[in-house]
Amino acid sequence: MDLAMVGDRIIPLDSLDPVYLDRGVFFGDGVYEVLRSYGGRLFALEEHLKRFERSLAAVYITGIDISTIRDRVMRAFEQAQLADAKIYFHITRGSDRRNHVWKPDLTPNFLLTISPAPDSTAEKAAGIAVCTHPDWRWKRCDIKSLNLLANVLARQDAENRGCSEAILIDEAGMITEGSSSAFFAVFGRSIRTAPLTSNILPSITRQFVLKAATNLGMGLIEQSLTPQDAKTADELFIAVTTKDIIPVVKFDGKPIADGKPGPITKALIDGFRKFTIP
Ligand code: PLP
Repeated sequence: MDLAMVGDRIIPLDSLDPVYLDRGVFFGDGVYEVLRSYGGRLFALEEHLKRFERSLAAVYITGIDISTIRDRVMRAFEQAQLADAKIYFHITRGSDRRNHVWKPDLTPNFLLTISPAPDSTAEKAAGIAVCTHPDWRWKRCDIKSLNLLANVLARQDAENRGCSEAILIDEAGMITEGSSSAFFAVFGRSIRTAPLTSNILPSITRQFVLKAATNLGMGLIEQSLTPQDAKTADELFIAVTTKDIIPVVKFDGKPIADGKPGPITKALIDGFRKFTIP
């Protein structure tokens, strides 16, 4: 007899709610996006939808109409009536009895949540401390997949050490990115960040940071750096959709420059803000 046990309750496996059989739960078999709004306007919706489409294709989840996803995002945003909202959504391959090999006719599961975007004013003003952690992730970090255990473990370790973000270090000793953010260093009038390879997520915020830096007449160096390089930078910052740009003032316990958010990072925050207002 096929059975399932949910908590302490035993039921026939056939009567189990499909939500328990989501391949997203069994395998992290799905992809997601996070976008936000500023002052009642969705920011970079098309960029996020494009990345989502790319992630879906990369894991062979087919038959998703991106215009349907766009409509759902807009409908939820309209209904929530949140000026500064954080919108999360994912699609998993579908629900079925656990089997690594998927059936071709599964119906993908869609989930969206919307809530107020975090207020990052204090972090922007004071800066944050970050700690390094080995990058234990798989080799396709360019896909925004639901497999986030390595990111979660790194971030929790940083939290336990009093840091606000974990900066991931690959096997060659180079910084890839944050556990949930892109990572940047400022050297003079140039900003340096890892190049877009399959080892990092093509961050949407990164695109706008590079645009803001160009607008400021800064040089862009897309080249990985070591933790030692980072410690000697003039300024450091992370970038992520929910908080845009956050200055990093301490790296593995070492204060960066005078230990305060630097002028270039502040100028980039202002430059980024210009993209978010009509
Ligand atoms: N890198 C990782 C691993 C992330 O999880 C995220 C965002 O969650 C980012 C970078 C930043 O990406 P985005 O700017 O698109 O939010």
